[in-house]
Amino acid sequence: MLFDAMIPAFIVIFTIVIMECIATAVHKYIMHGWGWGWHKSHHEQHDHVFEKNDLFALAFSALAIVLFIIGMYNWVIWWIAIGVTAYGAIYFLMHDVLVHRRWGPVYLPRKGYLKRIYQAHRLHHVKNTRTGCVSFGFIYAKPIDKLLKNLRIERKGHRSTRRR
Ligand SMILES: [Zn+2]
Ligand SMILES: [Zn+2]
Repeated sequence: MLFDAMIPAFIVIFTIVIMECIATAVHKYIMHGWGWGWHKSHHEQHDHVFEKNDLFALAFSALAIVLFIIGMYNWVIWWIAIGVTAYGAIYFLMHDVLVHRRWGPVYLPRKGYLKRIYQAHRLHHVKNTRTGCVSFGFIYAKPIDKLLKNLRIERKGHRSTRRR
């Protein structure tokens, strides 16, 4: 009985981990690559409710809907769809509520994991350009001192390429 519940739980957790890897890669190579046209709106100051960048979230929601439809015929896919949706919810809470304060309560984490996620994504936004950014994940981040070091290296690199 317990074992029956463990398999879906494992699928959901595994899917969340895989989704973080996919989201990090998409953010790094697509959004800061050929998808910059949409993502740029997220790296600019504005007072609009929505950003063109939200279209990426919409695309991921469409993926979840497709998985739910296929999942009606396959229980494994169904639990993967639950995992993708759970990841979307965590992403929303971390990125839109905690870091960017677009919705919900304002909360400044002072210690631990949430503080690291908050600071790491703030560091991602230090640069408003397509290149030279650090920390592309949403629920995983490298230690802050490492990110600061990377950011400094990136900055130096950027300056020397400009000088040339
Ligand atoms: Zn970005
Ligand atoms: Zn952001």
